[in-house]
Amino acid sequence: MNSSDCSQLPAPAEHPRLIIRTCAEVLENGHRCGCAANRGERFCRHHIDWRKRRLRMLQAHRLLGHPRIPSLLDLRTVREAQGRLRYLRDAGYLDTGAAATLLAGLQMAANNLRFMEMAARWREREEEYG
Ligand SMILES: [Zn+2]
Repeated sequence: MNSSDCSQLPAPAEHPRLIIRTCAEVLENGHRCGCAANRGERFCRHHIDWRKRRLRMLQAHRLLGHPRIPSLLDLRTVREAQGRLRYLRDAGYLDTGAAATLLAGLQMAANNLRFMEMAARWREREEEYG
């Protein structure tokens, strides 16, 4: 293609622009989905289905009174989970046997986390005093 062929093309402003609306879902890595959105929708087919499924699961959990336990990342979140489980047990959402098992597991996790913190402090002292 030489320059004369290009001159016969309409100016860029006259080109019809192909605009495809992309999915507005933000993924776990912080990027947007980027798939083509369904006509008249903000999300792609996959994320529309996913949102419907998530909504149904949340409604079912609310009806069943399932506990929402935080991710057990550190001692503070383990303590928070223990508090929520005790509340659910006392409110009658959890039977006492299941609550006792879960609380025992959380107590074990809390003990392990406390021990790991103490071991880190011991290591620091050993490095300080040689
Ligand atoms: Zn999507």
